[in-house]
Amino acid sequence: MAGSSGSISAKEGNPFEAMSARFEVAARKLGLDPGLYEILKTPDRELAVSIPVEMDDGSYRVFQGYRVQHNMASGPCKGGIRFSPEVTLDEVRALAAWMTWKCAIANVPFGGGKGGVICDPSQLSRREIERITRRYVAMIIDIIGPERDVPAPDMNTNENVMAWIMDTYSMHARHAVPAIVTGKPIGLGGSLGRTEATGRGLDVVTREAMAYLDIPLRGARVVVQGFGNVGSIAARLLYEDGANIVAVSDVHGGIVNPAGLNVHELLKFARANRTVRGFPGSSEITNEELLEVQTDILLPAATENQITSRNADRISTRIIVEGANGPTTAAADALLEEKGIFVVPDILANAGGVTVSYFEWVQNRYGYYWEEAEVNDRLENTMVKAFRDVATVAEKFDVSMRLGAYMLGIDRVAYTTLTRGIYA
Ligand code: GLU
Repeated sequence: MAGSSGSISAKEGNPFEAMSARFEVAARKLGLDPGLYEILKTPDRELAVSIPVEMDDGSYRVFQGYRVQHNMASGPCKGGIRFSPEVTLDEVRALAAWMTWKCAIANVPFGGGKGGVICDPSQLSRREIERITRRYVAMIIDIIGPERDVPAPDMNTNENVMAWIMDTYSMHARHAVPAIVTGKPIGLGGSLGRTEATGRGLDVVTREAMAYLDIPLRGARVVVQGFGNVGSIAARLLYEDGANIVAVSDVHGGIVNPAGLNVHELLKFARANRTVRGFPGSSEITNEELLEVQTDILLPAATENQITSRNADRISTRIIVEGANGPTTAAADALLEEKGIFVVPDILANAGGVTVSYFEWVQNRYGYYWEEAEVNDRLENTMVKAFRDVATVAEKFDVSMRLGAYMLGIDRVAYTTLTRGIYA
């Protein structure tokens, strides 16, 4: 996704720095013991693996993969696997730490993990992606498991990839182990509502944030960056709530219509054309321009480093609800705060995905499956409670929602760590 990342410093663009900068301020505000600070900041375990693969043309290639387990104090590590040419160890580290705080904020009994493979799925066949997936799982098999670390989808990985993970692990275990991974196809033990969960969670926290600020959602303008699984579902649900979706974008670029886009029609169009560009009645804009469209709700749901020190002062919105992980750099936080923009941070806003992943794992473990309405109700309750818990901390310490979220997450994991004690 084209963004402003090209023009910022390497430090500002490093996701682990982005995580650490907020962690540091939150830890200081909490008065966290320096030793505990080290424990909570440092990943528990990092595994780097080489993945040899036979390509369709008979040649061999070696891909680099990672699995980072940031913190296992509260339960098995949990977090997605991304396939992207941009994957770096620091990115996976940051994403794993964000999962730790996210699970703690949502009160989901997991620690944080994340995986990544450096590859470009758009240049690979389905069979090649399958071979990469299976060999990657074989390489990390000793550190994953339903009680140890449970992967899930992330950027460029989907339910097919999850099915191959489940099958590979199960073949080694000699029996079906559905709870090894979440985000599976429904017929394989996936949970109803999991595909929509992150977008649905965003819809819930947007409603909460608007009510908290006393701004009506009906008629409010919404700009959505990213029209993948997360952005498109959030856009549809907000549209159904009566909001006015004025601009959206995907990897190819953005579209705008100040009178509002018909999101149901747009979804059909995007499915048929594989892009939102060219949607009748809209004009084209770039992804950079899209972020600067005057709006009430800005929903970055694409990738990291989109709102930075370079463009934060040109952003004109009442609230930002972060669908992506790390869309805002640490340097942009103060600029947004100065402008009075209310930010619902990623580790709260997009926690709906891992929440329903938790429900999927629970259903797999007791072998009984819930109706979709039950999943959605439980998700709604979890997200509303998480929003209110974060708002309470933010008010108590007179800090932003971002800092409040870090403080809540860190405090909960610190409690677990101290109560368990340090094994020696
Ligand atoms: N990849 C998603 C995230 O970043 C979901 C993780 C999960 O469901 O375990 O939150």
